[in-house]
Amino acid sequence: MRVHHIDCGTMCPLGARLLGGRGGWLERGRLVCHCLVVETKDGLTLVDTGLGTADIDQPRRRLGGVFLAVTGPRLLRDQTALAQIERLGYRRDDVRDIVPTHLDLDHVGGLSDFPEARVHVFEPELRAATERATRRERSRYRAAQMRHGPRWVPHRVEGDTWMGFERVRVLGDDVALVPLAGHTRGHCAVAVRDGARWLVHAGDAYFFRGEMRPEAPWGAPGLSLLQRLIAFDDEARRRNQDRLRSLVRDHGDEVRVFCAHDPVELEAFPAPEPRPAVTTTFVASA
Ligand SMILES: [Zn+2]
Repeated sequence: MRVHHIDCGTMCPLGARLLGGRGGWLERGRLVCHCLVVETKDGLTLVDTGLGTADIDQPRRRLGGVFLAVTGPRLLRDQTALAQIERLGYRRDDVRDIVPTHLDLDHVGGLSDFPEARVHVFEPELRAATERATRRERSRYRAAQMRHGPRWVPHRVEGDTWMGFERVRVLGDDVALVPLAGHTRGHCAVAVRDGARWLVHAGDAYFFRGEMRPEAPWGAPGLSLLQRLIAFDDEARRRNQDRLRSLVRDHGDEVRVFCAHDPVELEAFPAPEPRPAVTTTFVASA
């Protein structure tokens, strides 16, 4: 399995210094939407989808004015997962499965670019995004992004465990949801086997690389505040962030943990490489 790391939506909020970057209070910082393109023998699997084509075309309707004002997204069609998999030499139909960490607007905008793909989601998260029971949930889960009717495949915990966490296998032994509630009701990390180790896409379980330092963790002040403000359950979020730090401390040689929005973590991975120009097509699955 080859895994590509791509940014599907650069966001530039004001206050670079508060986001842990260089620059002053009034300069814009940079956050990414770190997504994975996993090449499997049956096609492509995406982990998170960032912003999609329709978000670029109709940002106000799809993303809402508050999100646009606060995060300052660049809204580039070239950054959508669709545009990037095409640059890698694949087609829309090659994407068979999508595994979002959670269903916030900056993680699922690309779903509508792949309407035929199965979308594997932790059942409590799907329920939260469908019911939209609180005011905050009505603004974070955008009905406009789901209107095409994603092919949801809900998953529940069934007693399986992995390195001290619950684990929900979604695609054989190689891709699993790891529930880490707090940011949202059903927020998960997604663990992807990558050779001898595991990539752990921690979604929004933390926002800044310093938060994962096992000794003396440090968060950028603006991002720490933001996480507290938008958490569905801040106590659960902190507890799960602690568990994630322990995973890094105790199993650092077996896992590589990264979050959705830290640009430095993303850029530590090699840039995506187009596949060699041989025309292989995937056999359609039954
Ligand atoms: Zn996010």
